[in-house]
Amino acid sequence: MKLPYAEPYKIKSVEPIRKTTRSEREQLIEEASFNLFNLRAEKVFIDLLTDSGTGAMSQHQWAEIMLGDESYAGATSYFKLKNSVETILDMPYFLPTHQGRAAENVLFETLMGHNGDGKIVPGNSHFDTTKGHIEWRGAKAVDCTIDEAFDTTVDHPFKGNIDLAKLADVFEKTPREQIPIVILTITCNSSGGQPVSMENIKAVSKLCKDAGVTLFFDAARFAENAYFIKIREKGYENKTIKEIVLEMFSYVDGCTMSAKKDGIVNMGGLLAFRNEELFRKACTFNIMFEGYLTYGGLAGRDLGALSVGLCESTEFDYLEARCGQVAYLGAKCREYGIPVQEPFGGHAIFVDALKVFPHIPREQYPAQLLGVELYIEAGVRGVEIGTLLADRDPVTRQDRFPKLELLRLAIPRRVYTNSHMDYIAAGLANVLERASSIKSGFAVTWEAPIMRHFTVKLRRI
Ligand SMILES: *Cc1c(COP(=O)(O)O)cnc(C)c1O
Repeated sequence: MKLPYAEPYKIKSVEPIRKTTRSEREQLIEEASFNLFNLRAEKVFIDLLTDSGTGAMSQHQWAEIMLGDESYAGATSYFKLKNSVETILDMPYFLPTHQGRAAENVLFETLMGHNGDGKIVPGNSHFDTTKGHIEWRGAKAVDCTIDEAFDTTVDHPFKGNIDLAKLADVFEKTPREQIPIVILTITCNSSGGQPVSMENIKAVSKLCKDAGVTLFFDAARFAENAYFIKIREKGYENKTIKEIVLEMFSYVDGCTMSAKKDGIVNMGGLLAFRNEELFRKACTFNIMFEGYLTYGGLAGRDLGALSVGLCESTEFDYLEARCGQVAYLGAKCREYGIPVQEPFGGHAIFVDALKVFPHIPREQYPAQLLGVELYIEAGVRGVEIGTLLADRDPVTRQDRFPKLELLRLAIPRRVYTNSHMDYIAAGLANVLERASSIKSGFAVTWEAPIMRHFTVKLRRI
């Protein structure tokens, strides 16, 4: 018999979590105005709101917390991180930042200052904060993702890929000086944690080089992307994750990274460069916005923990258990007839709320309804990726309806066991069973002018 994967660690310290009763949860979610962000975390049994900053650190990372060198400049912990960035990403220059969006802020300030008018930043479904930093400066983020990414019925191993013809078209129609950079997000979070193939990275890199355009990764989930290359792309099955990561980074000029994902730290980020001149320019903004060059808004101990996290997340056994657990939940859901997006991504399972609640109008936020019902059913917290998140059109103020209404269940790294996954899938199955008896969704009673999903207040119809 082929041995199955098993987590390459055992548990030394545990954090108790407590169940609430169904009637308590009914009351709590009503008091929270049916917004899952408003719940106290202690009233959540299994928290799948995000995989960002929610991972469990290893004993080696905790040891680095104790060894943290808090010197303002030139701390030992900084050099440990520098060493990891050099050996794992092969990037000669880097700046620590307090998280991923801070790295984006420094990068875009360096590239276009506050004047992005007419500038275009192509990419594969830019992450919201990336898009925010681009649009806030008056520039435009152009999505060049392959069309297959938006069709859930199509099975494609690399749904994060860039459509080369779309990118070439942007290059052709736009003067070179109007394209400061191309951002390739690995894995592509916005399309469901879908990976980008090495072949595609290489081809995008060549297109950019020929056009004289800088290419950066948004590298939040770079290790999970490398894992999918190893298991899905021909020619990589015998390479180590670290070899694959090195090849991936050899095709780009730098990266922004939210280290709260594959860095497996609770807080942190970085900006890495191959080009010294660009790095020098960015240094000034890093000092202004984040902190001195050798700490960038992080404590020394955070830098040390991240230096170890980068090494651990690029181990195959870790990634096999990590992505294996996400796929385990996906398969369990499929077994119960719960409509989930496939292929399963690296960090989350997405439940198709339009299929669970075909009778609920989209104006009543069916994915939010699914999230609320799952909380009431099982004390599990996911997050709506649907019309609430898509927000209103800035001009017409009408709801914008995205292609799908999804409930995202993001799995924290090294935190939950497969028994928790069984519990989540059973909770979903129970919601599915009574879905047709739920006759209506929600109406908004209060919302902020932008990014309403974080603070929106709802009432049941
Ligand atoms: C989380 C994330 C970011 C932003 O990082 P923060 O650390 O949350 O600021 C950017 N890009 C991607 C792909 C992410 O997942």
